Amino acid sequence: MNLRIFPIKVGNELWSKSYLNGPGAGDTPIDIPHIIFYIDGADKKVLVDTGGGDPASADMIKFHSKTYTRKPEEEPTIALKMATGVSSEEIDIVILTHLHWDHACNCHLFPNAEFYVQMTEVIDSINPVPRFAKTYQSFNIGTVPPWAQQPLKWNFLYGDTEILPGIKVLLIPGHSAGIQGVAVTTNDGLYFLGSDAYPLYDNINEDGSVLPSMLSLNLEAAFHSSWKVSKLGAKIIPGHDIAVLDHKFYPVA
Ligand SMILES: [Zn+2]
Ligand SMILES: [Zn+2]
Repeated sequence: MNLRIFPIKVGNELWSKSYLNGPGAGDTPIDIPHIIFYIDGADKKVLVDTGGGDPASADMIKFHSKTYTRKPEEEPTIALKMATGVSSEEIDIVILTHLHWDHACNCHLFPNAEFYVQMTEVIDSINPVPRFAKTYQSFNIGTVPPWAQQPLKWNFLYGDTEILPGIKVLLIPGHSAGIQGVAVTTNDGLYFLGSDAYPLYDNINEDGSVLPSMLSLNLEAAFHSSWKVSKLGAKIIPGHDIAVLDHKFYPVA
């Protein structure tokens, strides 16, 4: 099997590195792309995450960053088609790394897909701590989380799970309660989509081990998860680093 991972930009925000990685990481705002990933070469067509909503929509304006932008060609169905030739109706499986808005809007655009998310993440998205209520658009602030706004086929997971041969999700709590990374076995060894647990290449040490983002609901859990991820010996693809977009797909041919 020859699995390849296509990073696809579906929006942008401006954040400082210190927002993600703590004091001292740098206070100058930088481009933070929203990235979804298409996994090519499996028996089914797999998408990882679905990106943020239309920046002009009421929910995006009310709940989220004023710096969030999305070019017309970054609308997920258009961006997916341009990057891979695959249409949104063809997607069989959507893995949501977690349910923060920048990863879990737009589910309705993939009507024929089965969705995979961790059960602990679903529970936390319904009634999160106040710091993350807007991030989830949770029920307890008088709205409906994006993932729950339409009927879709959900698979709620309880821990590490093989989704397809060569594609496995690993529960890596810390950034959020039920965040999962995606391990993909390629011809160039194991790759790992770190999502917001490892948002930047700054979160990856020279020896390939990882440091968790300081933007974590539970920092102790994040460090424990980082030991687990470091032991994989995988090549990490961060969740929000603009340099990820330097390549059309991974492994780089
Ligand atoms: Zn997040
Ligand atoms: Zn994110």
